Amino acid sequence: MAILPILTAPHPRLTKMSRPVERFDRALAELAENMLETMYAANGIGLAAPQVDVHQRVVVMDLHQEDEPPAPQILVNPEVLQAGAETATMSEGCLSVPEAYEEVERPARVTVRYQDLAGVTHTRECTGLEAVCWQHEIDHLDGVLFVDHLNRLKRDRIIQRLVKEKRLARRARDRAVRPAA
Ligand SMILES: [Zn+2]
Repeated sequence: MAILPILTAPHPRLTKMSRPVERFDRALAELAENMLETMYAANGIGLAAPQVDVHQRVVVMDLHQEDEPPAPQILVNPEVLQAGAETATMSEGCLSVPEAYEEVERPARVTVRYQDLAGVTHTRECTGLEAVCWQHEIDHLDGVLFVDHLNRLKRDRIIQRLVKEKRLARRARDRAVRPAA
C-alpha cells in the first residue's frame, strides 16, 4: 500500500476524461487499495483516480458516521443512470481544491450503476450525502470539479487563490534549494 500524491487545481490533468476500466486484475485492486489509503490519510470521504493522476474510471468512498466502523467502497466504471427532477443543495469540498467549501445544487436522488473489483455490475438508488458524493466523484472522471458548478465569480476567486498559493510554495521551494553564499 502507498499514499499517492493528490493533484490540486488548477491542473490540466484534472480536466482530462478518464478511460473505462477493462481489466479487473491485481493492478486494479492495488490502485483501489492505494486510493483508499490516500483518501483516509487526507481525511477525505471520496477520491477519484484522476485526482492521483490515474485516468481510469475508478472511485473510492467511505461515508460512515463517526461512531460507525469504516465502510470502504470501491466503484469501478460508476455512472449515473437516472437523476430525479428534485434538487438539493449541499456544501461541498474536494481534496483537489484545498480549503474551499461551497454550496452546490445537484439532483437529490440518483440511480447509479458500477462494477466491483471482480467486474460484477451493481445498481442502486442514492439520496442525501451519498447522492452528492457519487455525482461529485463521477464528475472527476469526466474532468469536472465541483467549482465548475459555481458561478464564474466564485469559481475564479477560488482558482486565483490556488494559483497564488502554488506560486508562493514554488518560490519558497526555490529559495530552500538555492545554495547559501
Ligand atoms: Zn473532489
